[in-house]
Amino acid sequence: MKFKLGSPTDLEKLSQNKDWKELKNISSFFIFKLLILVFGILISTFFYQFIKEIISIREIYSTYMENWYLVFLLIPLHEASHAIMYPNFGFSDKIIFGFWPKKFVFYSYYDLPLKKNRLIIAMLAPLFILTVFPVLLISILELNYIYLAIIAILNSIGGAGDIFYSILVISQVPKNSVVKTDTARVFWKEV
Ligand SMILES: [Zn+2]
Repeated sequence: MKFKLGSPTDLEKLSQNKDWKELKNISSFFIFKLLILVFGILISTFFYQFIKEIISIREIYSTYMENWYLVFLLIPLHEASHAIMYPNFGFSDKIIFGFWPKKFVFYSYYDLPLKKNRLIIAMLAPLFILTVFPVLLISILELNYIYLAIIAILNSIGGAGDIFYSILVISQVPKNSVVKTDTARVFWKEV
């Protein structure tokens, strides 16, 4: 794996290759971010319904405010959850972890084309590992573990972009395709 500070790879070359098509997305980055934020709040509200009898949002909010650094623990966990679904369980020099200060985006991607389904699994992995699984633990086992709840809720807000991108890929990319993304842009090609 490699670490990168700044924008992800420039996929300009791919955009000039007629075999590759770019995924259609919202053209304004600001509108995209706003939409993702609203979407994130909706998703976290949805997951909160399953744990609210055990841990209240007040408790989650006040504990998080006192332990705001938890978000910096969550980010590497989130990116690692994407990475383990890439070839070699994330132990490949084709995996890039990065931070893009200008857009305040943390990212991880696989630097080679992936099959459509593989990419969707990798995109959604953090949602299952860090939100669905903790929510099940809390609600089924009635586990009153506040830090688990904070991670689950925070991750569901932060993972909204992943869900949004998955929906775009599922709806636009044909079944037998490979997809290449650096998280900023997504290209696909039928094989
Ligand atoms: Zn993600």
